Amino acid sequence: MPLRVKPGSKVNIGKDFDPRYKPHSLKKKDGVELLQNGIALLADYQRRLAAQDTYGVLVCLQALDAGGKDGVIRHVMSGVNPQGVQVSSFKVPSAEELNHDYLWRYARRLPTRGEIGIFNRSHYEEVLVVRVHPENLDRQKLPEKEKGEGVWDRRYREINNWERYLSDNGFRLVKLFLNISKEEQRTRFLRRIEVPERNWKFSSADVREREHWDDYQHAFSEMLSATSTRWAPWYVIPADRKWFARICAGAVLAHTLIDIDPQYPEVSENIRRELGKVAAELEREAPEGASGDL
Ligand code: ATP
Ligand code: MG
Repeated sequence: MPLRVKPGSKVNIGKDFDPRYKPHSLKKKDGVELLQNGIALLADYQRRLAAQDTYGVLVCLQALDAGGKDGVIRHVMSGVNPQGVQVSSFKVPSAEELNHDYLWRYARRLPTRGEIGIFNRSHYEEVLVVRVHPENLDRQKLPEKEKGEGVWDRRYREINNWERYLSDNGFRLVKLFLNISKEEQRTRFLRRIEVPERNWKFSSADVREREHWDDYQHAFSEMLSATSTRWAPWYVIPADRKWFARICAGAVLAHTLIDIDPQYPEVSENIRRELGKVAAELEREAPEGASGDL
């Protein structure tokens, strides 16, 4: 089953993607090694990305509540140098944020070159929660004539253009939608209630949001259809099995980094000669009996 949403295709999330999908032959115990290998590969590529300092990567994670965003971040990024990663979580916008255009707060958290930025929720909330609960749009203080019917199509276009601008300028987008089933969300909520160590994760607001399940499925389908582009495609990750979702998320990110293929900068002949001289000086400074570099 391909995870990538073909640009221009019309998606019906309920029909086209199975949240429980995994290859028949792949078992959870094989998954452990696969993820470990993926994590090691990511760590290596991230070092090169930082050294090259030319490209940046922005991972956008979207999911319904209990979809597993936190777990993906915790596991997939566990091997990379924290200095090269910036995680930003987006909640209900503040008064200051509402006083700006809707992309402002996301633009402020973009990764630098050499960095991997992770958006835990992203600018896509602006066509998801805001669409499902239009009172959010009222709070955004748009001019009256800009709030009508066409607002979602306009936002899709604006988001596509923004992402194209970013990708043209060296910032690659990795857009992951963690797709869980309604039944899996139910059991995850129940576990959050039953296991005391998970109680803090439970919010009764999440259960109320669940009542809008069908509206969200519709908003996701529209979003995937309109914003999976050549320069920033969406990947729908089967997320009912956490371990498989993490492997997929790691694989898509790894694929992007392999495609960028960042290289350590080459040192010029002049600098290499200079380095040789400095090394010789440092050698001369060595105290009697010092062993080489340990
Ligand atoms: P977790 O619950 O796992 O800690 P979370 O991402 O669900 O993580 P919360 O603080 O529970 O974090 O929820 C953030 C809430 O903010 C979500 O309900 C989301 O829909 C809402 N939100 C995000 N962006 C916007 C936005 N632009 N407008 C309105 N609501 C938003
Ligand atoms: Mg939440």
